[in-house]
Amino acid sequence: MNHAEACGICPRQCPAPRTAYCGGSAPLRLAAASVHRGEEPPVTGRGGSGTVFVSGCNLRCAFCQNAQISHGRMGRTVDADEFAAICLGLQRHGAENINIVSGSHAVPAIVEGIRRARGAALTIPCLWNSSAYEKTETLESLHDVIDMYLPDLKTLDKSVADKFFSAPDYPLYAEKAILKMMDMARSKHNVIIRHLVLPGFLESTKKVLSWFAKNARGRASLSLMTQYTPPHDLPSVKAGNVPGRFLNKDEYDTALGWLEELGIEDGFYQEPGTGNEWLPDFERENPFSSEMSVPVWHWKNGFAVTGRQNV
Ligand code: SF4
Repeated sequence: MNHAEACGICPRQCPAPRTAYCGGSAPLRLAAASVHRGEEPPVTGRGGSGTVFVSGCNLRCAFCQNAQISHGRMGRTVDADEFAAICLGLQRHGAENINIVSGSHAVPAIVEGIRRARGAALTIPCLWNSSAYEKTETLESLHDVIDMYLPDLKTLDKSVADKFFSAPDYPLYAEKAILKMMDMARSKHNVIIRHLVLPGFLESTKKVLSWFAKNARGRASLSLMTQYTPPHDLPSVKAGNVPGRFLNKDEYDTALGWLEELGIEDGFYQEPGTGNEWLPDFERENPFSSEMSVPVWHWKNGFAVTGRQNV
């Protein structure tokens, strides 16, 4: 987006850069890259998943666990060469894939970066890990660089989407985006639809699971995420606008019971969350615990455990 142009990358359709909801779709900013073990088994594999955390966000959930980078845009600008070097660093450290986290607002720069990395001997698959608040036209440009999709389906309830993301049109776009991803993926093993259960909003979860059973069963796996952790320091939490507690046992059992009732067998679910182990701190070289991830690149100091490999 230049000084005067509107941006049409995502459904927000911002009229000018100064009003960019995501903070700006270019240049590409990254916060961290690490070999991560906390993803679903087929994503983590044996070697871990090479997560690349993009700064900024076009959805900015009020309860985001990565608020430092999504709301606050913590991170720094990288060009296509540095992006490619980061991907190669992850590959060299045993990552089984490159897992681009929340890059919906930066699709053109990411496509260019992946192409640069492919030209410089990146051979592992690339994953698109997004909120699904995306336009199908934009997703088309990922077709020849992305091998697997990990979209969220956060809610199909307009009022929930408005309350937590100021995006009442989220259900409309997310539904179309996920259908598009399932069309673009070469097999059902290449799409995992994630849903985070929100304490106190179980009816929203029921709608999502019913949608999955009707539209995605046999075409994707489901990942039911039950580790909602109340973030400490977001204004929305202090104001009491987002759930301030973990999921309780009744809610957890109810959500799991619906999986059985709806015949959803292909997928994953977690143990209920009880601590802060899922809350990262992107000020640290390793934003996660050492059991969960090995840092490879960080916005403050660049490469952490490897020298830069030129591309
Ligand atoms: S990508 Fe960013 S600037 Fe572009 S429309 Fe979406 S929120 Fe607005």
